[in-house]
Amino acid sequence: MLIIARTEPSVDLEPTNLPAGPQPATPEPQAHWQQILAQSIRDAHVLCQRLQLPAIDTAHIQAASRDFPLLVPEPFLQRMHVGRLDDPLLLQVLPQIQEINTQPQMQLDPLQEREYTPVAGIIHKYRGRVLLITQGACAINCRYCFRRHFPYQEHTLSRAQWQASLQYIEERPDIHEVILSGGDPLATSDARLAYLTQAIAKIPHVKRLRIHTRLPVVIPQRIDAACLAWLADLPIQVVMVLHINHAQEIDAQVQAAVARLRALGVSLLNQSVLLAGINDSLQAQIDLSEALFACGILPYYLHTLDPVQGAAHFDYPDEQAQILVSELLAHLPGFLVPRLVREIPERASKTPLVLTSPSLSECT
Ligand SMILES: *Cc1c(COP(=O)(O)O)cnc(C)c1O
Ligand code: SF4
Repeated sequence: MLIIARTEPSVDLEPTNLPAGPQPATPEPQAHWQQILAQSIRDAHVLCQRLQLPAIDTAHIQAASRDFPLLVPEPFLQRMHVGRLDDPLLLQVLPQIQEINTQPQMQLDPLQEREYTPVAGIIHKYRGRVLLITQGACAINCRYCFRRHFPYQEHTLSRAQWQASLQYIEERPDIHEVILSGGDPLATSDARLAYLTQAIAKIPHVKRLRIHTRLPVVIPQRIDAACLAWLADLPIQVVMVLHINHAQEIDAQVQAAVARLRALGVSLLNQSVLLAGINDSLQAQIDLSEALFACGILPYYLHTLDPVQGAAHFDYPDEQAQILVSELLAHLPGFLVPRLVREIPERASKTPLVLTSPSLSECT
């Protein structure tokens, strides 16, 4: 989440010629995770074959994925159940005909983020923290993504723009936290991330670096030695906010990647989106929270769906969401219940939805 999906999947869409950063004379060899990303599935037929599903109407899929293509990396695919069209991981990535039905209540830029972009690549909306758009690519295309219509090209940063973002932060002593977002910031190469994060950490008023990413979930091999090296070098605290919607997304490889991050002292949180037909049951939410905590991740936010054009079929009514999370409160310790929030433009933070704890006699 909080990341822009771009139309063309690309392995490493980089700003060219970063100043003073590592500048290899010859192109860097592709890391293992980059090879996995490059070999991702982009064809619905291949996806159906691999999962032994009946062939789907290609015309529909093509129409639905014209502006936002199918993109599924292999490690994520391997966690799907064969033969199940209702698999909760498949439903997150499979283009559906409903995507092209225009809904009046759905918008192209539901969060109106363009208003909060003082320089290209920075979204400064809330006090004390800014989003720095590292790059536009993602390692998976989630159909419910609220930035599926985002003009990502404007945010594929050039060298000068990256510098302008850093300068913007330097000039504002009230910014204490920089949030790397995208696209997926971890789709950027380690050499460039090492350069950027060191530059951020040198700004005296920046206390924390936060990274919003889905990459360690969809390609756990991303958390490799090179990634751990620049993370370990940072002199400021690092918080990583992952994006996992369903317990089935967490397998042994994800657990191992998370363990590597925790060993460095990285704080791990999770945000998810409440998606009709995917994680909208009490049991799915309990299982998710338990699976997260079992590997050392705390639930942070449960977002209601942003009203983005093409995602109406994932929508879940707020009143039912409030009931669902109230029930969750009655089943789990408080620290395993994510904050149910909606993003409303013009508000100073995410907006928590009101919950009422059921009375003890109502609980079974
Ligand atoms: C969600 C968001 C943040 C982070 O909000 P937290 O409540 O601190 O997690 C920061 N900036 C923007 C623009 C956001 O959308
Ligand atoms: S990882 Fe998925 S939800 Fe996040 S920005 Fe990319 S496409 Fe959107």
